[in-house]
Amino acid sequence: MRETNFIIENNARHMWHPMAHPAEMQAQPPRIITAGEGVEIVDIQGKKVLDAVGGLWNVNLGYSCEPVKKAIRDQLDELPYYSTFRGTTNSPLIELSYELAEWFQPDGLSRSFFTSGGSDSVETCLRLARQYHKINGQPERTKFVALKKGYHGTHFGGASVNGNQNFRRSYEPLLPGVIHLPAPFSYRNPFGTSDGAEIAAAIGRLFEDEIAFQGADTIAALIVEPVLGAGGVIVPHETFLPLMREICDRHGILLIADEVITAFGRTGAWTGSRLWGVKPDLMSTAKAITNGYFPFGAVMIADKVAEVFEGSKGAFGSIGHGYTYSGHPAGAAAALATLKETKRLNVADDAAARGEELIAGLRKLQDKHELIGDVRGKGLMCALELVSDRKRKSAASKDILQKVQDVAYDAGALVRTSGANVIMSPPLVITAGDVQTILTALDAGLTAAGA
Ligand code: PMP
Repeated sequence: MRETNFIIENNARHMWHPMAHPAEMQAQPPRIITAGEGVEIVDIQGKKVLDAVGGLWNVNLGYSCEPVKKAIRDQLDELPYYSTFRGTTNSPLIELSYELAEWFQPDGLSRSFFTSGGSDSVETCLRLARQYHKINGQPERTKFVALKKGYHGTHFGGASVNGNQNFRRSYEPLLPGVIHLPAPFSYRNPFGTSDGAEIAAAIGRLFEDEIAFQGADTIAALIVEPVLGAGGVIVPHETFLPLMREICDRHGILLIADEVITAFGRTGAWTGSRLWGVKPDLMSTAKAITNGYFPFGAVMIADKVAEVFEGSKGAFGSIGHGYTYSGHPAGAAAALATLKETKRLNVADDAAARGEELIAGLRKLQDKHELIGDVRGKGLMCALELVSDRKRKSAASKDILQKVQDVAYDAGALVRTSGANVIMSPPLVITAGDVQTILTALDAGLTAAGA
């Protein structure tokens, strides 16, 4: 390894960063994280802070999860790679597919298809949805319905169903035949109400209206996050997803739950779908499946969909889709060890308990700081939406958000900003004391930004 000065001097010089302007990164290079221990990270200056971002919603068990590290090391010694394209496979992956069928049994999902991350998983869901209808003799079912403010990764399929123009405009034209419904968002919506049940019902009516307009026989699937993450942690009313499920069923439309963030306990339930009592037809997972230690993902497939594929005899049955790293053995070993630890530590209950403490604390901060327009969260995915004027709900400036983040960091916690939102998704193993650390750091950030 080169010296520290060399690393600092070359930061952001020869690389572009995701979701950032290259010149801005060069002008204000990102923090260099050099170590992680427990729920804390250490930067190159030696400063240690609590990671209230949990990597990127993925390091659910923190940075010192020895069983996962060991599983990856051991697997690299045993078999560092082998492909799963027709003809070969590897042992940890077979074991993992067994464990996942058990894990997702309450969601009615019994088959898996492996990927290298969340965007790959979303892409796989979209493709399998179209193929399902082709096998079923309904080849015109090609369109997708999605939510504004939804986030589904960066491949062209995912970008096409994304509901945030920042991730779309520069890359248009995207896939044709994608319809966006409003998000189930109480704080901002076109319905003139903040009543979650009313909003859910209104979106249901728009969905029905759109189905009538497009023709149900042209729509392949609806894709939704059970709790919208990157769009600002939007928690739908409890009636929303069951209503969407019911409408999909009535019109032969598949329901894809994008659970890249929510699948392994983050919301306080083991899956976001279970949180709302809904069984999806396809589910995308990634991130916490390996505790963030290895790029990996899995698409989970419902029996109903699996039966159609497995029983197909025509031209469309074979899966003409997959990745070199579909089912990487080290990723599979990491996932096996992660699932075991996730279950042993029962982290969904921790996420629910710590989440309640964090949200209660954030509401207290809202009483104190005019800057906070809205507080949202479920389990350990939470957001503050910052405004310059509470009545008008005008978004706070970028400088204000940067100030909150910087001062909070100096005060001991890394939070993330996205648009006007301050987002928190700490490891699920944080203690009640860690929750206080996050709140104290945020308080300092908000005080400085509001001054
Ligand atoms: N779907 C959702 C709901 C996500 O939150 C993300 C990433 N934050 C993705 C898909 C894309 O995952 P990845 O960045 O691993 O490709």
